[in-house]
Amino acid sequence: MRRKRHGFASIFIVIVIVIGFGALLWLNGPQDVPAVIAPPNPVTATPEENPIARLLGQGFGVDSTPLPTIAIPEVLPTIPTLAIGQEGTPVVVGAGDVAGQTAPIALVVTPTLPPPTPIDAAEATEIAATRDPDSWQPPALIPPLSKDPLGYDHYWFTRPLDANANNWVLEVYPYGSDGPSQDNPLRQHHGIDMSNRVGERVRAAAAGVVIWSADGRQDEVDYFQNSPSYGNVILIEHYNQYRGQTLYTLYGHLSAAFVNVGDVVEMGEVIGLVGNTGQVTGPHLHFEVRLDENKYGSTVNPVLWMVPYVGHGVIAGRVLDFSGNYPSSLQDTTITVRRVRDGLTQATTTSYIYLNSSSDINPDRNWDENFVVADVPVGTYDVIATVDGQRVVQRITVIDGMTNWVELKPEPRPTAEPTETQ
Ligand SMILES: [Zn+2]
Repeated sequence: MRRKRHGFASIFIVIVIVIGFGALLWLNGPQDVPAVIAPPNPVTATPEENPIARLLGQGFGVDSTPLPTIAIPEVLPTIPTLAIGQEGTPVVVGAGDVAGQTAPIALVVTPTLPPPTPIDAAEATEIAATRDPDSWQPPALIPPLSKDPLGYDHYWFTRPLDANANNWVLEVYPYGSDGPSQDNPLRQHHGIDMSNRVGERVRAAAAGVVIWSADGRQDEVDYFQNSPSYGNVILIEHYNQYRGQTLYTLYGHLSAAFVNVGDVVEMGEVIGLVGNTGQVTGPHLHFEVRLDENKYGSTVNPVLWMVPYVGHGVIAGRVLDFSGNYPSSLQDTTITVRRVRDGLTQATTTSYIYLNSSSDINPDRNWDENFVVADVPVGTYDVIATVDGQRVVQRITVIDGMTNWVELKPEPRPTAEPTETQ
C-alpha cells in the first residue's frame, strides 16, 4: 500500500515536471521578429560611413540589454512629503472609479483631428473593469522592451500612468516645442504632457531611489533652473544605468507626493497624484527623462524611452533640407501622420532642431532624430512635411513595440533655366 502510493506520487511528480518544462519552452519560444526596419541614417549611405556598421563595429547594440548596475544614490537632505490637498483636493481613485471606466484610453485630441483608434478596445475595457483598483495597471508591454533587431531602441520605462488613465502625449506641446502659438511662445518643452484629472495615480517608471520630492522652486542644484513652472515635482534616480550613464525620470505638477528623498521605489509603485501645481493650463502629468546628469539641460525625448502603448509603435525621424542638413530654420516644422487606408490624420507633431550651443534640447544618441510621434497604431501611414516650400511625403509601415524610422527630405532644387542675355 505504502509502496503503491509512493509509485503514484512519483508518476505525478514526473507529469508535473514534464508539463512545467513544456510550458517553459512554450513561453520562451521564438518571438516574432519584425521583417522590416528602416535604417536610421540613410543620408550617409556609403559602407564606410554607414553609422549602423560603424556603431555595430564599436559593439553598439551588444550592450543594449540592461544590466542592473546598482548606483549609489546621492541622498539629499530629506524634504517633508507633500500634504495631499496642498493645491486643491486630490480625488482619491476608488474601486468605483476604476470599475466605471468604460473607455480604456481617454483621448486628447485637438478639434481638427480624428481620434486615434485604440487596438483591442473591448478586451482592454474588460481587463480594466475587472482589475483590482489597488493593483498596478500597466500596459501589457513590460520594459525593458525592444523588438528592434539592431538594438537601437531603449524602452526601459513603463508608462507613469495606469492603462486606463490618459496615456496620449499632448500633441500641441511635444518635446522640444515652444508651444502652438508663435506670438506667445512657451518655454521650450523638456518633457511630455499627458492630460489627466487631478488625483490620477502617478507611478514610478522604473525602480530607483527618490532624489527629489518637493516644490520645484526649492532648487539649489540646477534641477529646475529655479523655475516655479514644475510645481510639486518628484525625481527618481534609476538603478539600471544605460551604457554606463545614469537615468532619471521626473514627474511634475503633482497634487501630492507619497515618497520622500531616499525612498526606494519599485517600477509601477504609486509615488504621487496628478495635479495642476506650477505653471499649467490644466491638470496633467509632465514627464521627463534625463540621461547622464540630473540637470535641466540633460533631457531626452521620453517617447523614445517609454514602452509604446499596446498595439502601437513610435515614429521617429528627421526632417532635412534638400542638401541633407537640418538647419535651425527647420525648427517647429509640422509633421503630419496620415493613415493610408482612409486618409485621415492620425497624429501631428513638430520638429526640434536647436543646433546652437545654448540649446538644451537633446536628440537621442542612438537615433539623432528631430521629431518623434508617440503611440501610433500598427498600420501604413504617409508622413508629411513641407520643407523649403516642397511637400515631402514618405510612406511607412508602423510595427508595434518599436521605433519606426522615416526621413523627410525634399528633392534638390532644379537649376535655374539658362536665360538669353544680351
Ligand atoms: Zn510639460
